[in-house]
Amino acid sequence: MKFSILTIVLIILWGWTGNLGQSATPIPEADRPKNIVLLIGDGMGLAQISAALYDNNLHLSLEQFPVIGFQKTHSANNLITDSAAAGTALASGKKTKNNVIGLDNDGVPCKTILEEASERGLATGMVVTSSIQHATPACFVAHQKARNMYENIAEDILKSGIDFFIGGGKQYFDRREKDDFNLVEELKKKDFAVYDYFQNELTDVKPSPDKRFAFLTADNQPLPAMQGRDYLPFASKLALDYLKARNPNGFFLMIEGSQIDWSCHANQPVPLLAEMKDFDKTIEQVLNFARKDGETLVIVTADHETGGMALNEGSPRKLDYEFTTNGHTAAMVPVFAYGPQSGLFRGIYENTAIYDKMREAFGFSELGIGN
Ligand code: MG
Ligand code: ZN
Repeated sequence: MKFSILTIVLIILWGWTGNLGQSATPIPEADRPKNIVLLIGDGMGLAQISAALYDNNLHLSLEQFPVIGFQKTHSANNLITDSAAAGTALASGKKTKNNVIGLDNDGVPCKTILEEASERGLATGMVVTSSIQHATPACFVAHQKARNMYENIAEDILKSGIDFFIGGGKQYFDRREKDDFNLVEELKKKDFAVYDYFQNELTDVKPSPDKRFAFLTADNQPLPAMQGRDYLPFASKLALDYLKARNPNGFFLMIEGSQIDWSCHANQPVPLLAEMKDFDKTIEQVLNFARKDGETLVIVTADHETGGMALNEGSPRKLDYEFTTNGHTAAMVPVFAYGPQSGLFRGIYENTAIYDKMREAFGFSELGIGN
């Protein structure tokens, strides 16, 4: 008798938890964010964040985020991911091999959160401090078997549905080696107003929400922050205001502090601190917007840690930094979330879960499979 009651209880429990797994309660529309801003500090692990914090009088904008999580960064074929596999995981929710842009582990193109947002009628944008065709941004708008196929990635950008982008890489649009196409002209045919750093100051340009907008900040890679590059906070604010005006349904925006990674590959703490300061100012801009707007989910994370950076003895004002590698490491990286549905980002999970959580927050997951 005892046994059968226990059995019944177990069966009921099993059925109940099984049901939970099958259909999580959808988030009511009123509780969903209208907008999602995903900020990626490429190579930004806890040591990089700590270094920036000590360098900035023991404070960072990141301290204002109420929800913290950790993500596991390994790729499909390597304990240590590169930015391509990690970017694909964040953008499309698929673990893939290092070097691969927006294809799953079988080589099948996987729809990105940016592409899906665009298809579902939201405005979309990216602002980065690398070329716009570099691995991290490429993963949101392109599908190519190798990250260095910059000219192919430039073509994919035209098909992605993106409304707004700021970054380097002009030469892959208008001085191509594989063909004679001028993709700046193609962008214009697709209703883009296209500007570049040769002819314009970003601060002088007023994007019209009636047109798409592109500003190319370099022929290839923009300068490091230490050499005077300072557009990321301004460009991010420009993107937020544009996207909000562009589309009443909401928007998805990806912002990347691209060169945090490069300073750590070079094992150089001073350039790193300049990149981190620039990225923190950008986070502050986004938080200011989100606080006023009240309908924006802000997520800050990294794709992986770079340099195996350690903070050794010293004082908060004069730290002794050490690096254990010129490459990336397998350490988990933190996730910070603010705004509607930020609670989804609590805990420890795979990098691919960030894509799932963003779709859930947007209400996409109940509308059908993304890819
Ligand atoms: Mg990157
Ligand atoms: Zn790297």
